[in-house]
Amino acid sequence: MSLKGKVALVTGSTSGIGLGIARALAGAGADLLLNGFGDPAAIEAERAGLAQEFGVRVGYDGADMSKPAAIAAMVAKAEATMGGVDILVNNAGIQFVAPIEDFPDDRWDAVIGINLSAVFHGTKAVIPGMKKKGWGRIINIASAHGLVASAQKAAYVAAKHGVLGLTKVTAIELANDGITANAICPGWVLTPLVQRQLEARAQQDGISVEAAANAFLSEKQPMTKFSTPEALGGLAVFLCSDAAATITGVPMTMDGGWTAQ
Ligand code: NAD
Repeated sequence: MSLKGKVALVTGSTSGIGLGIARALAGAGADLLLNGFGDPAAIEAERAGLAQEFGVRVGYDGADMSKPAAIAAMVAKAEATMGGVDILVNNAGIQFVAPIEDFPDDRWDAVIGINLSAVFHGTKAVIPGMKKKGWGRIINIASAHGLVASAQKAAYVAAKHGVLGLTKVTAIELANDGITANAICPGWVLTPLVQRQLEARAQQDGISVEAAANAFLSEKQPMTKFSTPEALGGLAVFLCSDAAATITGVPMTMDGGWTAQ
């Protein structure tokens, strides 16, 4: 499976799942445009390291995914400097946990903005270029929370359910343009986003972080192990392959059986 000559924009790829997917796509030969927040020196080291390890071109754009104009400018930059965006992975995301009655309005807006609206703005920006090439892959990182709910995650669950709806519309609209749109729905993956929730749970319940991890897993997943960014990268590479050319509009779970129940 070679993605040589393709350019992949992975939002939120300075950490966690996005970085795992970026590494897998580069491993398959794709050039990368990284995005996400972090320490500039660490991001530059990651960028240069990926370019050297995989022998691909790797750029970086620090667009804030809550800003539609910045998203459009990032895609325009990819078109001007890298030859366009062939693969868009809408991955950037944040979490906030509180009961609805206490959920701060600005946190609602931020979660919806980054986890849902950014998917719309990114997709909108890449479609003309993909149509021109007659080939494209749009992969939206949703969640098991795109299919089922958990208490205290109103904005996240609403955003991820929205991502699945948007994925289906994208798939239908682009069905005969050589472009597929799919969602990946991970269960628990041990990334900084989840680490923060584990630490909060450990503190709240007076237990170790390890015990909190076991509690998280066993409460939701029949399979009591984390999925990995590397495995999610493997699934993303598959979705870019010729074998997946007619898979479109699908939420693909990798959730240790979470949503099978
Ligand atoms: P993470 O916190 O490790 O990484 C999030 C990335 O998004 C980082 O690169 C961060 O800099 C970037 N980001 C955040 N806000 C941004 C903004 N405004 N503009 C640009 N970049 C921004 O989290 P993760 O666990 O790797 O999550 C990645 C995606 O996977 C998210 O959409 C998340 O909802 C989803 N997901 C995660 C899990 C899990 O268990 N970790 C499960 C299901 C779905």
